[in-house]
Amino acid sequence: MLEFDLLGFQTRRDLRNFLQCVRRVLSEAEVLPSGGIQRIRYRGREIRTSRFPIGIDFESFEKGAASEAVAERARKLRAAFPGCQLMVGADRLDYSKGIPERLRAFRDALERHSELRGRVVLIQNVVPSRVEIPRYHEFKNRIDRLVGDINGRFSSDTWLPVHYRFRSLDRDDLLAHYRACEIALVTPLKDGMNLVAKEYCACSVDKNAGVLMLSQFAGAAEQLKPGAVLVNPYDVEQVADTILKVCRMSEAERSARMKRMRRVVRDQNVFWWVNSFLKAGAQLTNRSARIARRPHARVAR
Ligand code: UDP
Repeated sequence: MLEFDLLGFQTRRDLRNFLQCVRRVLSEAEVLPSGGIQRIRYRGREIRTSRFPIGIDFESFEKGAASEAVAERARKLRAAFPGCQLMVGADRLDYSKGIPERLRAFRDALERHSELRGRVVLIQNVVPSRVEIPRYHEFKNRIDRLVGDINGRFSSDTWLPVHYRFRSLDRDDLLAHYRACEIALVTPLKDGMNLVAKEYCACSVDKNAGVLMLSQFAGAAEQLKPGAVLVNPYDVEQVADTILKVCRMSEAERSARMKRMRRVVRDQNVFWWVNSFLKAGAQLTNRSARIARRPHARVAR
């Protein structure tokens, strides 16, 4: 990695971990103390590192969610579950996404908090990925079994707790799910950023009413913590209790939290991200050019 002149990380934590690693592993590298952009001196060169959290095209998601086609799909989705709060999960089939842990938490919530039964539905969408690898196939079977167990134990004639799909949703369908569901469960065990969390906020166009339950281990948590309800995805009981808490959350609190998150996602969008990255790159190029113009200057590389 130190062959590059500029290194970007999603979060302060990732950057801190990397610098700590450099200090420990490479005795000849020197991490220079500085503010925003951190510098590393290594084999006669200077490498710059900073935090560049990736964003989304907020406007395109917001406009898409507000379109008539998506509004119609969202209405239909809501109408299919009368009297229920909808929770959405949308993840790739991957260990890091914490899907079995989330399902166990939902099961625990239904077990211990009977008021949730018949009142809340989890729409869990899993996008197939690497299914040709036996371990992934076995992982999918684990999820299938958990869904079967929850639905077998708790469903009634008129209510199915988990609506599970194992396929990719098209864009309008995904946006309709984001818009229609009052709660998003984004609970990865580890994630560089997690764009689903940001997309959900951008698509929360009805009275800013969506609640985001977000893993503290998702990169997005650093930016969204003022509005998200943070959870530790390994702590099944805590996640279960938080499901109850968010189901009971007042509209005023939901709206205040979502407004804060939407501001961050709108301001620190993908264009802001690319500009800040390129600006840091350009500063680097100017610097190299200045050094190159100096008589007898030796520019590294
Ligand atoms: N996504 C999708 N269809 C789905 C579910 C998710 O196209 O049914 C997209 C979603 O819009 C997002 C991406 O998949 O942009 C997932 O990105 P994220 O950073 O959340 O996780 P990754 O899969 O890259 O680890």
